[in-house]
Amino acid sequence: MVNRLGAALLEGLFPNHCLLCGLRSRRPVPLCAPCARDLQPNHNCCPRCALPLPAPLPGTAAMCPPPRTCGHCLQAPPPFQRVIAPWLYCEGLAHIIQRWKFHGETRLTPLLARLWLQAADPGAVDVLLPVPLHWRRLWQRGFNQSELLCRELRALAPELAGARLDLRSVKRLRNTSPQAGAGAAQRLANMRAAFTARGHYANLRIAVVDDVMTTGATAAALGRTLQRAGASHVEIWCLARTPMQGN
Ligand SMILES: [Zn+2]
Ligand SMILES: [Zn+2]
Repeated sequence: MVNRLGAALLEGLFPNHCLLCGLRSRRPVPLCAPCARDLQPNHNCCPRCALPLPAPLPGTAAMCPPPRTCGHCLQAPPPFQRVIAPWLYCEGLAHIIQRWKFHGETRLTPLLARLWLQAADPGAVDVLLPVPLHWRRLWQRGFNQSELLCRELRALAPELAGARLDLRSVKRLRNTSPQAGAGAAQRLANMRAAFTARGHYANLRIAVVDDVMTTGATAAALGRTLQRAGASHVEIWCLARTPMQGN
């Protein structure tokens, strides 16, 4: 009640404007309801890697079985049990994520965490592990966006309140070239031996938190590193999934 009153008061004093259309959002977050509805959910996707699957034919949605594992995951199972990526990396979300990540607008973390929780049903995990940045990139950017997201998710979701935030056990060894723009083969080459882990992960459910999953090369590299450290249950939680080129 007090929180709601406080939020209403704040909204009156400092109205939030929508990041996408510029109109007053009339909500405690800087995204108006119509623009939020325009974001594209990633419902019909592979449960293992969250790759969007071809849409069901019109009129057949009711008889369609639940989404099935994609051909890539059947052929070569990835080193993680599932990916939760509730949104597609559409233009609107890309705009918000880029402002958050590259323009230092960390005030957008609560908006992104709320969007994630609104669409995902994660369940409890033992460890929240933000994808580590190389120290040099962390120094340049000043923050690790995945760590901010972890902290906010833990603060907002009661089932995550008991999860351990793991910031020290995994290190990024290589300052890989920015993944945006690199091809799939280049990304894979970049990510080989990119991480090292010195924690104990046996019998723990680990959620690796990232912002956007593109080819999955980062997730696979980290998943393999965690498996070598004894992990048997790794999930990747990210905001959005980019469809693979050619899909
Ligand atoms: Zn708007
Ligand atoms: Zn898959």
